[in-house]
Parts: sequence; structure tokens; C-alpha cells
Amino acid sequence: MSLFSALYIVAAALFILALKWMSSPATARRGVVSGEIGMLLAVVGTLMRHEVVTYEWIIAGLLIGAAIGVPLAVLMPMTAVPQRTAISQACGALASALIGTAEYYRQYPSGFTMGALALEMLLGFLTFTASLMAFGKLHEILPSRPITFKGQNFVNLGLLGIAAAIGVTLVINPHQPVLFPIFVALSMAFGVLLIIPIGGADMPTVIALLNSYAGLSASAMGFALDNKLLIIAGALDGSSGLILSIIMCRAMNRSFTNVLFGAFGQLQTGAAATESKPVRSATAEEAAQILEDARTVVIIPGYGMAVAQAQHKIRELFDALTKKGIDVRFAVHPVAGRMPGHMNVLLAEADVPYDKLVEMDDINPEMGMTDVALIVGANDIVNPAAKNDPSSPIAGMPILDAYKSRTVMIIKRGMAAGFAGIDNELYYAPNTLMLFGDAKTFVAGLVKEVAGAH
Ligand code: NAP
Repeated sequence: MSLFSALYIVAAALFILALKWMSSPATARRGVVSGEIGMLLAVVGTLMRHEVVTYEWIIAGLLIGAAIGVPLAVLMPMTAVPQRTAISQACGALASALIGTAEYYRQYPSGFTMGALALEMLLGFLTFTASLMAFGKLHEILPSRPITFKGQNFVNLGLLGIAAAIGVTLVINPHQPVLFPIFVALSMAFGVLLIIPIGGADMPTVIALLNSYAGLSASAMGFALDNKLLIIAGALDGSSGLILSIIMCRAMNRSFTNVLFGAFGQLQTGAAATESKPVRSATAEEAAQILEDARTVVIIPGYGMAVAQAQHKIRELFDALTKKGIDVRFAVHPVAGRMPGHMNVLLAEADVPYDKLVEMDDINPEMGMTDVALIVGANDIVNPAAKNDPSSPIAGMPILDAYKSRTVMIIKRGMAAGFAGIDNELYYAPNTLMLFGDAKTFVAGLVKEVAGAH
């Protein structure tokens, strides 16, 4: 076995371990490092292959890539991770599609290789434009509302059908100076059309799906270039992206076919609170007293914790309450925040012990026995309308059963709606206290009260 094959096998093993380790917050860091080492070995192994003619262009590519990637990683805040993922995915898909194009013009392959190349370019180009569109919608450069027209699915599928038919023609006779650019243009147009009917609200799910397409594109390229590691890495990427989008769909109670056919994204149509119903509110001092009197507290973080960057203060509150012998745990909803694992990442950053993070299905049966549910900047994920109101835009979405706990305390700045744009009946419940203020500031006040009291 050559050194090159050995490097590839080790890299493939590291990719698989990376996915395994990334599935738990306790081992996620190790997973990221193992994926990075795997990728380094893959790049080194590839550069050692005899096909490399000259290194100048490769070095230029590395420098340009780093010049774009490093600022992206450093400058974009945590709350903008979905956009960042979209833009890096667009770059990856474009790279894959351009390699396919170069390979096509280099050797006009036929048969199986051309088939793999055609699939790779179709997926690569469509993922490129679709990811750019997703970036635009998430970053609010493009209108985020869904744009629909009559017969949209028919037009989209028709376009895809024509592109696929050209792909088949290319397999039969690769020399197609006119048809090939049309194939590229149609693939890119399909990417745009795929995204326009989808609302900005659903872009994170779409990005997971596009990630899957980019992985499949890379895998197809592996077949075309006879590179086994690319086949493996692409397949892992493709399947994990698909699994993630299915998990997200389930957590938001969306049908996966709706995602595939782009007929969703109308979530933000629900009416926010217009009439003013009375709510009960409390000060930090009063809330701290209630927390100190509790035996069990479940903290439910949401998007507002991320916006306020309140995770470190929450860790301090956890320490202060635990010191007083109170059992404090964190309930993590699968779609809390704006990206999968959002809350896990932030709580891990603040060194909250992993064994205190409990998933929705495990904590819900215990919510009825909980003294205080402290909700920090979460809204939709605790909205009982998902269970009680079949006409609600979030009907059927699984929620954290905070309403079952003896006292519910909700930290948020005002009565504004969350992501789904709808009112939350939990705010008006007799066992609910609203704690109005920025999450970081309010939790800091709670820490001061709890830690200061003897
Ligand atoms: P949410 O429903 O969007 O509610 C967040 C709440 O935080 C808002 O009501 C807001 O109220 C409050 N807030 C904002 N800034 C704050 C601050 N500085 N301090 C205190 N409070 C603040 O969030 P969520 O409950 O986490 O639910 C997530 C939603 O995103 C779900 O609808 C989910 O389906 C959707 N989603 C999630 C993902 C994912 O992967 N995680 C992907 C796509 C969609 P005020 O303005 O009144 O403060």
C-alpha cells in the first residue's frame, strides 16, 4: 500500500470519527479537530499524487481561500452562522462545479465518467446559486418573503428535466459546444428558482439540505476523478446534511416533501399580539427570591440568550443557585435559536457542565415536578399554542412543556413575538411572571441578588 493510500484511509477514518464525536457536546471539540486533521491529511495526500503539474496555482488558491475564509470566520458573529454556512457552501459548490467544467473541457469524457461529471456539475452549479440566494435572504439583502407564481413547481421541474436531458445527451455525445453552456445556465437558474418560493424563515433548514447537495456533488466528482476519499467525504457530507434537515423538519413539524418542493416558508403570517391583555411582571429581586425558594429549576434558553450573549451570566447564575443546593438543569430544544446546536454551542462556551443539559424528550416528563422554569429569551419553543391551537402556524411543533412547572419566569425585553411572529399564551398564564429586560442585564441582576443574599 502506498503512503498516499494510507493517508487517505486514515483521513476517511478521521472524517467518520469526526461525525461520531460531533454528535455529543462532550466530544464535539475533539470531533472538529479530528475533521480538520483528516482534511489536512487528505490535502497533503492529494498534493503528493503524480498528477500535480505545478504548485503555483495551488498556492495561489490556498492564499485566496484563506484571505476570504479567515475574515469570514473572525468577523461574522455567532448569530450569523447560518449566513456564514451559506456563503462557504456556495464557495465549495462553485469549486466542485468548476473542477467538473475543467475536467469536461480537458478530456470530453464519455460513458460513466461523463454521467458522474454531469450530475456533479448539475448539483454543484445549482447549489452555488441556491446558497447565494439563501445567503441573500438570511442577510436580508434579498426580500425574505416567499415569491410564488402559478405553476411554479411545474416550471421548476420542467427546467430540471431539460437540464437532466442535456446531461444525458452529453453522456451519449460529450462534444456539445452549444448545449454544455446551456446545461450550466439551466443548473444555475434552477438553483435560483428553487429558493425564491421559500421564506427567509426556513432558510436554515434549506441550508442543511443544500449542504447535502454539495456533498453529493463532491461524491459524484470522486467517481469522475477516481478519487475514493472524495467519494467517502462527499457521501458523509451528503448523508449528514440530509439527516440534519430531516431532524430540523421534525423539530419544526414540517413535511420534508414541502421542503423538497419549495412550497413552504409562509410561517411568518401569524398575527402578533395586538390587544393588550394583562400580564404579571416581577423585579430581579422578587425573581431571585422565587429562585432561592425553589428546589428544582429548569433554565430554558432561546434565541434571546444568543442575541444578548447572556450565556456567561447564566453560568454564574447556575453556580450561585447550585451553591445553595438547588438542582438546576438546562432544557435544550432542538431548534432553539437560529441554527442546530445553537444553545449547546453557547452553553459549552460558558463551560456549563454537559451533564446538566437535558434534551426535550427527557426533560418534558419532569416539567410537572419542576418548581421554576426560567425561560431566557425563548418564545416559540415554549408556546403551548403548538399543542392547543390547530390553526396556529406552529401547530404540531414539539415544545418544551414549561407551562407545566409550578412557576414560569420569562426574561425578554418586551411583548414582541418570536421567529414565528405569533403571540404566546404562556405570557398570560396565572403561574407566569414576566421579567422584562435584556437577558444579559437581567440575569446579571439575578446573580447579584442570589450571590449577595445569605
Ligand atoms: P424565538 O421564538 O425567535 O424568540 C426569541 C425571543 O427572544 C423573542 O421573542 C425576543 O423577545 C427575545 N429576545 C430577543 N433579544 C433579546 C434580548 N437581548 N434579551 C432578552 N430577550 C430577547 O426563539 P426560540 O424560542 O429560540 O425559537 C426558535 C425559533 O426559530 C423557532 O420558531 C424555530 O422553529 C426557529 N428556527 C430555528 C432554527 C434552528 O436551527 N435553531 C432554524 C430555523 C428556524 P423581545 O424582543 O420581546 O425581547
